[in-house]
Amino acid sequence: MIVEDEKVLSESISDFLEKGGFVCETAQTYDAAQEKINLYHYDCLIVDLTLPDGNGLNIIKELKKLGSQTGIIIVSARSALDDKIIGLETGADDYLTKPFHLSELNARIKSIIRRKSFEGKNEILLNEIKILPDSAEVFVNEELIILTRKEYELLLFFISNKNRIITKESIAEHLWGDEMDMADSFDFIYTHIKNLRKKILEKTNNDYIRTIYGMGYKFATL
Ligand code: CA
Repeated sequence: MIVEDEKVLSESISDFLEKGGFVCETAQTYDAAQEKINLYHYDCLIVDLTLPDGNGLNIIKELKKLGSQTGIIIVSARSALDDKIIGLETGADDYLTKPFHLSELNARIKSIIRRKSFEGKNEILLNEIKILPDSAEVFVNEELIILTRKEYELLLFFISNKNRIITKESIAEHLWGDEMDMADSFDFIYTHIKNLRKKILEKTNNDYIRTIYGMGYKFATL
């Protein structure tokens, strides 16, 4: 989620990141951001400090109070050392001074997500499945499989929650944020899971994706 009141900047960040495969949401005020972090889970929050109705630092404090694992990057025109130190001490993972290059922001987000979800690895290995997150490539038994963006995101989500039941609601939220109606998204999830499962099964006999009746799905490796 991008918390930024400069609309043009917010849009250019979100366009850039969406081209790179991220699902982005934006909040232009402190209040809007506050409401969203209490409702949804985000992998990463990009937050400006000077918002028209509040201080971005308080959003970070709020997230920490919620016990959130969300990665946090401050983007601010304030370049003083004190601001950076306070920001990082409050709980931000990184601090970028405006103006910055979108490609640098993108690289830093990927690095935070790698750290948080995949213990800092460039390569995710799970039995015969290998994922290279930086290039979004997936190999099964050393053979490249071609996934759609949503199938790829789904596989990553499964693997970072392996052997745990994940509900359709949490999959929908992960894949689409709040931009899609829950009921509609369940049909899409079913189709994406069916296709992902088929593509993996073409290269291995191991069927990892289980349907847990009435609850959701599980990526079972045990
Ligand atoms: Ca601002």
